Amino acid sequence: MPTTTSLPPVGYIGLGIMGRPMAGHLLRAGYPLTVYNRTRAKAEPLVAEGAKLADSPKAVAEASEFIFTNVTDSPDLESVILGEPAAAAAHCSHKSAVIDGVRPGSIVIDNSTVAPATAKKIADALAKKDVFFLDAPVTGGEKGAIEATLAIMVGGDENAFQRALPLLQKMGKTILHMGPSGNGQMTKAINQILGALHLVAMAEAFALAQAAGLDLEKTRQIVASGAAGSWMLSNLAPRAFAGDFRPGFKAGLQNKDLRIALEAAAELGLDLPATRLARADFQRLVDMGCADEGTQAIVKTRWKR
Ligand code: NAP
Repeated sequence: MPTTTSLPPVGYIGLGIMGRPMAGHLLRAGYPLTVYNRTRAKAEPLVAEGAKLADSPKAVAEASEFIFTNVTDSPDLESVILGEPAAAAAHCSHKSAVIDGVRPGSIVIDNSTVAPATAKKIADALAKKDVFFLDAPVTGGEKGAIEATLAIMVGGDENAFQRALPLLQKMGKTILHMGPSGNGQMTKAINQILGALHLVAMAEAFALAQAAGLDLEKTRQIVASGAAGSWMLSNLAPRAFAGDFRPGFKAGLQNKDLRIALEAAAELGLDLPATRLARADFQRLVDMGCADEGTQAIVKTRWKR
């Protein structure tokens, strides 16, 4: 086991479904950890394990050489790091953001899923303070976060990536440097297109199985073992069959990610018709009041009750 004195101080901002277990791995690996969460109560389990509680993103940055963020969407991230007024988070507009406290040479590592353009904007702003920024979104779900088996796709400076790698290895198994700033988020957009289309395929295929009177679980077992298998079929279909719609990954977040993917494609002059269809399905699910349910709730747009 490494000693705490030999390891650099680390901060983690955003302790939701993903952030809390990811920060926990750093703490248990011996990194001195300072945490901040907008809703304070979610930070308490980590504080009970030995993390220090900060009262702002700025205070986390002042205390840390590596500063992780894991929040919801692009405006939230800009608010937390740059302190720009955002309707979603006016609480970070009074010089209490990461940029107000971060020291030259530090590395800010974002694990949220946001727009590639936002990652580039933040990287440029932090570079002016001689601070590195890595966009490092993840995939593998809540389970991957808890078990430290995430895939992490990283954009930004190669040397900063090498410095951050030992920390990322505490949270994930497959970790790749994808190129310059924004490339991590662009890779994640591609991941989210694949995941969403698999989910819609699952909902639609099993609508037919249901209408035809097939045994749903037997059907799942046989098709999941062949060429049509997917992570969604293996992990989320059983939950949908059981009527368990608790979130690992919230439907509202999947909807956000499809918006990000479509906007990124449009900026490159590309139309993605199947992704537009999947976005319409997830928007419908959100409009049905299911934004905080897990993505497996997509079956509600297709299945009979
Ligand atoms: P979550 O449980 O809803 O957590 C969101 C976190 O962001 C909470 O700590 C929340 O604080 C914080 N937050 C949101 N807006 C904020 C703001 N304006 N200022 C400060 N803090 C703010 O979501 P999650 O599932 O952990 O997802 C976090 C990110 O990871 C998202 O970008 C998501 O797309 C991505 N992701 C999720 C999964 C998954 O399976 N869940 C997988 C891969 C990637 P409060 O506690 O105060 O609300």
